[in-house]
Amino acid sequence: MASNAISRRKRNVYALLKASLVVRATWRLAKCLDKLRSQVNELWPLRIKASDGTIGDAAHQGRESDHNPWVIDGDVGVITAMDITHDPKHGCDAERIVDAVLQSKDARIKYIIWNRRIVNSEVSPWIWRPYAGKDPHTTHFHLSVSAQKPLYDDDGPWSISSE
Ligand SMILES: [Zn+2]
Repeated sequence: MASNAISRRKRNVYALLKASLVVRATWRLAKCLDKLRSQVNELWPLRIKASDGTIGDAAHQGRESDHNPWVIDGDVGVITAMDITHDPKHGCDAERIVDAVLQSKDARIKYIIWNRRIVNSEVSPWIWRPYAGKDPHTTHFHLSVSAQKPLYDDDGPWSISSE
């Protein structure tokens, strides 16, 4: 009887492990980041996407990064960070996009890294600080958004324009 109980418990543990693997295999991008990406693509259709990124690549995984789907919504992991390539030749100027979204103090922003600087909405709110990470973020800007669903899935337009 005791061994039956143990094997039943083992089966439960395996079922749980299997379920957690399924969770990790399924991910989606936060809706507000989807919206920003569509806006950017519409404004500058010729933009180069070489340094774009959503889900963590090998370099991001294992590090603390919002590119990993660690925000859980139901049984799906949500990516709450995105990189957009700096391509001023085709109009997609990271400096101007970052300036515009910061000026609006958009509540969805958690932090932005661009050109060796970081700005956070909660830590020293909205003030640029030096960023000394390995990647200086000069080929793209990084935007992390809130882990709160009403914010990360708010797909209202971001205040960016081509002017
Ligand atoms: Zn990034």
